[in-house]
Formats: sequence, C-alpha cells, structure tokens
Amino acid sequence: MKFHEHKIKFGKEKTFACADCGRKIDLSKLVIGSGKRGFDNYVNLDLVNFPKVDILHNLDKYPWPFPDNTFSEIYASHIIEHLDVEQAMKEIHRICKNDALVKIMVPHHSNPFKRLSHRYEGFNLETFTNHFYKGSIYCDVNFKQLKAKFMIRVSRQFMKAEKCKFFNWIINKKNFQRIYERFFCYMLPSAEIQYLLKVVK
Ligand SMILES: [Zn+2]
Repeated sequence: MKFHEHKIKFGKEKTFACADCGRKIDLSKLVIGSGKRGFDNYVNLDLVNFPKVDILHNLDKYPWPFPDNTFSEIYASHIIEHLDVEQAMKEIHRICKNDALVKIMVPHHSNPFKRLSHRYEGFNLETFTNHFYKGSIYCDVNFKQLKAKFMIRVSRQFMKAEKCKFFNWIINKKNFQRIYERFFCYMLPSAEIQYLLKVVK
C-alpha cells in the first residue's frame, strides 16, 4: 500500500478508521515524531512518510495542525530536544485538554552523545517545573510534573541489563534523585530522562 496521509477531522469524532489501509486510530492520543516504528491506535505525526504516519507535518511550523483542546494524551520520545522547547510546550498545552497526560523522553544532560540536531541538551529534574507554571515570568502555561525518571540504558557491551536495572532503581530512589543529579550523574551518566506531565488549564 502506497503511503497516504489520513485526512482526519478533529472535533466530535472519537475514532478514525481508514477504509483503504484499515488503520484504526483513537483521536484523543497523539505521538509527535512517531518515527519508523509508529504507534498503533495513536495519531502519528512525523516529518517523514514512514509506515503508520497519519499526518505529515514539520513541527517547526506553528500552529500544529490541530484545534485547541483536542488530546488527552501526548507521547513525545526524543523529539522535543530537536525543537524550540518553549514554543513546542506552549503548542502541546494548546492542543491538550485540561488534565491531559504528556509523556516526554529526552536525553539527560549527562548523556555524552551530543548531537548537532539537538537544540537543547540541558534537560534535568527541574527543566519544566522551573519554567512552565501559572504566573511564570518565562512561560505562563501550566504543567504539573507527576514524575521524572532517569534511565541509564548503556549498551550491553558495557553493562548487563540486570545491572542497568539495579542502577536505575538506585538513582531513581525518591530522596536520591537530586543527589545523583547534582553530584554523581557524570560518573554514571543517564542516557535519558523521562517526564510525566499533566496539563493544567
Ligand atoms: Zn489509510
């Protein structure tokens, strides 16, 4: 089947089904930068016409092609660091409903593999809480951070999966997260930091 975009009308409908390819989508869930793998049951947006992509769009072009208050869940894995973070977060806030969940994965600032395509590489425990809140002088859109988690995820040749799990458990212990980030994260770098944010409107 040849790639085709899905012309979806966002508004009243909760689901979308394509008669040509049989793809079924929950219209309350969006993946930005869905990539090669693509997600079942989510609206997949990407710049490249990979299989399962529903909407082709360059995320540097604002506004994104969705009405206000559309989604109750957004998934953004290794995409926000390639964008203007403030502008992207404002846009996520706009297209989300109140109480929507936003799952974000980005490289932690201790990740040694910096990339030319990354516009921001300083992600830490307080990146979002310090910037986006009601009455913020930086950006007055409100997200509540429900969780943040470090992921070491080194390649197998350096550390076995069980060891990796063990260290992830230690560095994410509630009272140790801040100490790890402040004093030890460059001894044992995290590949990634994962956030779970809630949209507050
Ligand atoms: Zn289709």
